[in-house]
Amino acid sequence: MILPGATLGVVGGGQLGRMFTLRARTMGYRVVVLEPDPRSPAGAVADRQIEAQYDDPGALAELAESCAAVTTEFENVPAAALRMLADRIPVRPGADAVSVAQDRIAEKEHLEKTGFPTAGFRRVSARGAAGRAFAELGGGAAILKTSRLGYDGKGQTVVGSAAECERAFDALEGVECILERRLSLETEISVVLARGANGEAGTFPPGENRHRNGILDTTIVPARVSGRLAEEARAMALGVARSLDYVGVLGVELFVAEGGRLFVNEIAPRPHNSGHYTIDACTSDQFEQQVRTLSGLPLGSFEAHSAAAMVNLLGDLWAEGPPAWDRVLAIPGARLHLYGKAEPRPGRKMGHVTCLAPTAEEAASRCAQVRSALAG
Ligand code: ADP
Ligand code: MG
Repeated sequence: MILPGATLGVVGGGQLGRMFTLRARTMGYRVVVLEPDPRSPAGAVADRQIEAQYDDPGALAELAESCAAVTTEFENVPAAALRMLADRIPVRPGADAVSVAQDRIAEKEHLEKTGFPTAGFRRVSARGAAGRAFAELGGGAAILKTSRLGYDGKGQTVVGSAAECERAFDALEGVECILERRLSLETEISVVLARGANGEAGTFPPGENRHRNGILDTTIVPARVSGRLAEEARAMALGVARSLDYVGVLGVELFVAEGGRLFVNEIAPRPHNSGHYTIDACTSDQFEQQVRTLSGLPLGSFEAHSAAAMVNLLGDLWAEGPPAWDRVLAIPGARLHLYGKAEPRPGRKMGHVTCLAPTAEEAASRCAQVRSALAG
């Protein structure tokens, strides 16, 4: 057990690292962040930042030296770096689980092997294979995705024919890809869960997710699906975590398609954007659960004390100067979270607003008010 007063490490300095750091410090831990960017969101609130690349051996040794345990805040941490750290201190989640989650092909193959439903898929690693894979999936619409490093819809192309598929593969410059059958989605939901080293685990209430241009736009909680489907989603997410012997916080994205059936879309080996609502609506939020699983402490309550909806704030909102926060904060139940990023680029996640309300519908309509307040 690692008790408050000890130092925790986090690899990565983005907003997830920032929210982890803030929570850990609230609970009395010290936090060291490994991140090359000297102006990182997490570095700004940590006790110390080691300014170096994620795979710098000297920096990793220093991190292991100064911390009792280490976690990560993004999936593309080099697995070798995590293994290097794991030789010296506990690393949660572990390198094996992270390396599955950071490679869409490994991820889908793992899910298939362990019996979880996914959209039909094929590996595409060479010219010529792309068109063949398209035909094998039945010839309907499909999505070609780079196997590694894609996020927020980047590195994805919708294709409608074998020839288009070949062209899309060429345009992605021949990197290894996965071709997935494009499901006709009824809705998208996600389950954020935490699992301790002793196997103790729990899930937050599933969120209903809407995307815009491939980027998460809004999460509404509780998801407006049947109680049976919500329970099935929670059980499926826990099953996926168990199949990976996962320790830490895991985000599981699910599709609802083909007449109310669940399909696992992807997993994120860290707290998830759709779980930000837990900061304002739950007894112990996803970052607290990350601290607890990392420290070997009992898990906190996953209970939500309110319905909630969250909207992401992208850099686009800064096009004509800082947004009208006073108008946003005048909306009842609205809570503003900004990540302290210096440069508001289009498509960049700068912050989010969570609205609490007695029902999911009311929370969603307050978020719609946030959107119109921001539109001016
Ligand atoms: P990212 O890592 O960018 O979040 P995802 O694989 O989750 O990548 O894809 C982003 C979004 O694209 C999904 O949330 C969903 O809306 C849509 N999408 C992805 N794959 C499929 C699919 N097989 N069928 C239908 N829609 C999909
Ligand atoms: Mg996704």
